[in-house]
Amino acid sequence: MEEAGIEILHIDIMDGHFVPNLTFGPGMVEYIRRCTELKLDVHLMMTNPQEFIDEFCDAGADYITIHQEACVHLNRIINSIKKRSVKAGVALNPATPPSTLQYVLDDVDMVLVMSVNPGFGGQKFIDRMQLKVAELNRLRKNGYSYKIEVDGGINFDNVKELKDAGADIIVAGTSVFKGNIAENCKRFEELIK
Ligand code: ZN
Repeated sequence: MEEAGIEILHIDIMDGHFVPNLTFGPGMVEYIRRCTELKLDVHLMMTNPQEFIDEFCDAGADYITIHQEACVHLNRIINSIKKRSVKAGVALNPATPPSTLQYVLDDVDMVLVMSVNPGFGGQKFIDRMQLKVAELNRLRKNGYSYKIEVDGGINFDNVKELKDAGADIIVAGTSVFKGNIAENCKRFEELIK
């Protein structure tokens, strides 16, 4: 099922603590679930995601992504997501290297490369993050099957390079919602096909 040419709806949950901004919680995800058949990719930018895994699973998330930096017991929380038959992603802030995930790469369905410092839309893409995507793509060839997602500052000028570096899932906010959404999605689609 696709709507406006997109396959996944990425939902940013911010807690005003892990990131300096607030958005919404499981109630909104549950509401969105009733409005669309798109896959829901819930990105938890929060300090204590372990407290909310069941609530976001119950709300209808297809993917739950937690931050490496926010999880002392990363392996445990990945397992708790997968136990609910929801796909588990781990996000890396710009300063966090892929090597921090060495011992969980077998277990994760997705690695999310933050290409801005999380908290606000409309920020400029940090160019070096393309190298991180390429590194994760190289690592993946050692028999892993995780998808690589990139989030932050993606636009019509940098999307093709990210795809070529190995990105499977592109998250775009400002460049999709500024102007005509369907036309913007189509333009993205053409750039990466
Ligand atoms: Zn996000």
